[in-house]
Amino acid sequence: MAKEAIRVYARVKPLGRRQPAGIYSVDDYEKSLSALEITVPHDLAEGFVNNKQESYKFKFQKIFDQEAKQDVVFDSVAKPVAECVLAGYNGTIFAYGQTGSGKTFTITGGAERYSDRGIIPRTLSYIFGQLQKDSSKVYTTHVSYLEIYNECGYDLLVQRDKASSLEDLPKVTIMEDADQNIHLKNLSLQRATNEEEALNLLFLGDTNRMIAETPMNEASTRSHCIFTIHISSKETGSATIRRSKLHLVDLAGSERVAKTGVGGHLLTEAKYINVSLHYLEQVMIALAEKNRSHIPYRNCMMTSVLRDSLGGNCMTTMIATLSMDKRNIDESISTCRFAQRVALIKNEVVINEEIDPTLMIVQLKKEIQELKDELALVTGKQRTSELSQEELLQLDELIETFLEDNDPDSTLDVGADMRKIKYCFIRVKQLKISDKKLLSQNISEETVANKEAELKNLKELLQQRDNEIVILVNMLKEEKKKAEDALFQLAAASAGSIVSEKPLSIKLEESQSRSTSISPKEAKDFISSVHRLPFFSRQTGGRMSPGCQEAFKIFKQDHADNRAIEDNKEILKQRFAEAKCLGDKLNEVRNKINHLKGAITQRRIQRAALAVSSPSEELNMLDPVEEKLRMQIEEEKNSYKTMFNRLKVLKVEIKHLQFLVEKVTMKMQKDFEVWWSEEAAHLQQEKPEMVSSPNSAAVYPQFIKSSQRRTSSFSETMRVGLSEDPADPTLKTRTLPSSSIPLTGDSQADADILAFIKARQNILQKKGLGNK
Ligand code: ADP
Ligand code: MG
Repeated sequence: MAKEAIRVYARVKPLGRRQPAGIYSVDDYEKSLSALEITVPHDLAEGFVNNKQESYKFKFQKIFDQEAKQDVVFDSVAKPVAECVLAGYNGTIFAYGQTGSGKTFTITGGAERYSDRGIIPRTLSYIFGQLQKDSSKVYTTHVSYLEIYNECGYDLLVQRDKASSLEDLPKVTIMEDADQNIHLKNLSLQRATNEEEALNLLFLGDTNRMIAETPMNEASTRSHCIFTIHISSKETGSATIRRSKLHLVDLAGSERVAKTGVGGHLLTEAKYINVSLHYLEQVMIALAEKNRSHIPYRNCMMTSVLRDSLGGNCMTTMIATLSMDKRNIDESISTCRFAQRVALIKNEVVINEEIDPTLMIVQLKKEIQELKDELALVTGKQRTSELSQEELLQLDELIETFLEDNDPDSTLDVGADMRKIKYCFIRVKQLKISDKKLLSQNISEETVANKEAELKNLKELLQQRDNEIVILVNMLKEEKKKAEDALFQLAAASAGSIVSEKPLSIKLEESQSRSTSISPKEAKDFISSVHRLPFFSRQTGGRMSPGCQEAFKIFKQDHADNRAIEDNKEILKQRFAEAKCLGDKLNEVRNKINHLKGAITQRRIQRAALAVSSPSEELNMLDPVEEKLRMQIEEEKNSYKTMFNRLKVLKVEIKHLQFLVEKVTMKMQKDFEVWWSEEAAHLQQEKPEMVSSPNSAAVYPQFIKSSQRRTSSFSETMRVGLSEDPADPTLKTRTLPSSSIPLTGDSQADADILAFIKARQNILQKKGLGNK
C-alpha cells in the first residue's frame, strides 16, 4: 500500500501576438518542483479591494510554459500514470481551468495538426503498444465515454443516424451498492482490442460530443467529459485477475461570475458558474482537512463518479490550464489556488486483484487431492469418499441404539471421521422425515372423504361458469361485428388514408433497439459514413439549393479553419502516397523472400542429387551458397518488418487526419448555419419586401428569432472569430451554432439571401473592409 500525493502540473496556453510582459514568471527549482509567480499589473491591482497583494507564488510539480509541445506533456504527465494503470492501479488525469485555457487541447488535442493530438490518443497508443509487447499476460481492454451536463450523465459511445441534441443520447445514472461502490447504469463499455478500434471509439464519442452541442447548452463549457480505459489482465494459469481503469477528464470551465475589478468584489466572493465545480472544491477542502470523516462526494454526479480518484484508491494527476492574459489574471489565480489545495491530498493506491472462480476451483481440487494423499500416508488407509457396506450397517445399528436409548445423556460416538459423522446426520434426518409422513398419512385418510364431496361441488360450479362464458362470448362477437361494419362505412365515406398504428410502433422499436450498444466495427462504419455525408445534408435530407451551395463556397473561402482543412488534405494525400509506396515495396520484398526461399530449395535438391551421383566430403559440410541466401532472406525480413511497422504508424496517422478534417468540416458547417441565419435576418431587416412572401416568412421564423441575439454582420463575425480570445468570456460575441436550425431548402429564399450577401460583400470590398 502506498500513499501518493496528487501530482499537480500547470500548463500555460500560448498567447500569440498579444504577449504581455511581466505578468508571470516560471522558476524551475529542481527536477520535481517549479514555481509560478503571478504579478498583478498596477492598473488591475486597484480592483482587488482589501487585496493589496501584488504578486502570488504557486508551486507545481512542473510548469509547461507556452511553447511546451504535446509529446512533452504526455511524457511527463500521462506516461507515468499509464504505466501504473498497466501495473494494475487506478489512474486519473484531469484538466482544470477556465474556458479557453486549453483543457480540451491538452486532454483530447487540437483540431488542426496530427502533432497536436492530446493525452487520450497518445495514451491509447502507448497502452496498446505496451500490451502488445507483453506476452506473459492476457489483457482485455474496454473504453467508455461519459458526458455529464447539468447533473445528467450521457453515454457518448452510441451510434446515431442523425445530428440531434444531448437529450437523444442514452441517459446514464448512478447506482450505489451496499458497499458504497458506485456503478454507472446505462454507460456502455465497448471492447477495443487494438489502438485502431479504441481510436474509432474516441472519434465516435468526440463527434457525438460536438453534434450534441447547441447554443442553449454550450456543452463544451459547461459539461464534464470522462473518457475511461478499463484494463483487466491475467497471467496464464493464475487465478488472480487484475483490473484497473484510467479516467481522462476534461472538466467544465472553472470561470466564476462576479468578476473582480467589476464593482470591486473580493476575489474569494466570486462564484463558480458550474455548480459541480463548487462541490469539487468542497470535496477537496474536506479531503485536505485532517480528521475529517465525512467527505461530501454525493453532492453531485461528477464527484460521485470520480470518488475513487479524489482521496481514494487512485493515482491522480491534475493539470491546471492557464490563460495568462491580463484580463484573465483573477481566473488564473483562482485556478492556481485550487491546484495548491489539490496538491495537499494524498491517495492510497492498491493493486486491484480478484480471484477467477473457475481457476480457483481447479486449484482447490488439486489441494484436496494432495491432502487426501497425505491422510492416507498418515493413517495407512486409503480413504475413498464413500463408506463400505459393512461400515454403513454398523452405523445404522449405532444410530438405532442411540435413538432408542431413553437416557438423555447418551451419546453417539462414531470416531473422528467426517464421512461417518455426515452419514449419521443424513440418516437421522431421513428417519425423522419418514416419521412425519407416517403421521400425515393417518390424518389424510380421514379427510379424503370430505375432500371428495367438496370436489364434486366445485366441478358443478365450473360447468355453470363455462356455460355463462359461452353466452357472453357470442354476445361480444355480435357487438364487434356491428362496430366493424360501422367503421368500414365511415372509412369508405371519408376515403382518406388511415395510418395504421402497428407499423409505427414497429419502427419505434426498431430505432430503439438500434440505438443501444455498438461494436467497434459499427463505430468504424459510423465514422466512415459521417465522413461521406456532409453535416447538413444529413439534416436536410440531402436537399441543398444551388444558392445555398454557392453561399457555402463563399463562406468556406473566408473561414479561418479552411486553411487547416486544406493543409490536412494535402498531408493526407502525401501520407496516402507514402502508404501506397510502402505497400508496393512490401509486396516486392515479399516476392524477393519467396524467390530466395525457392533458390534454397533448388540448391538443396541439386546438392542431394550430387551426393548420390558423386559423393564427396565437401557435400556433407555447410553449404556456403545456402548460407548466403539465408543471410539475404534475413536482411529482407528485417527491412520488411521496418516497413511494416512504419505502415502501421501511417495508418493511425491517416485515420487521425481523416477525423480532424471531418471534425473541422463539421464545425465549419455548423458555423455556416449560424451565419446563414444571420444573413437571412439581415436581409429581413434591410429589405423586408424580399422575404415578405408567405413562403419565406414561414421558413425563417427560427432565423429571425435567433438573429435577435446577434448583431454582428458576417464580416464582423469573421473578424471577431479570427482574433477572438476564447479564454476571455467578455469577448464572447459569437454564439455557438445550433444544430437544430433547419436550412431552408427553398431555392428562391436561398437565392435571395445569396444575392444579398454578394451585394454586401461588394460594398465592403469597395470600402476596403473585405475579409481578405
Ligand atoms: P478549453 O477546453 O479549456 O475551453 P481549448 O482546449 O478548447 O480550451 O482551447 C481553446 C483554444 O486554444 C483552442 O483553439 C485550442 O486549439 C487553443 N489552445 C489551447 N492550448 C493550446 C496550446 N498549448 N497550444 C496551441 N493552441 C492551444
Ligand atoms: Mg473544452
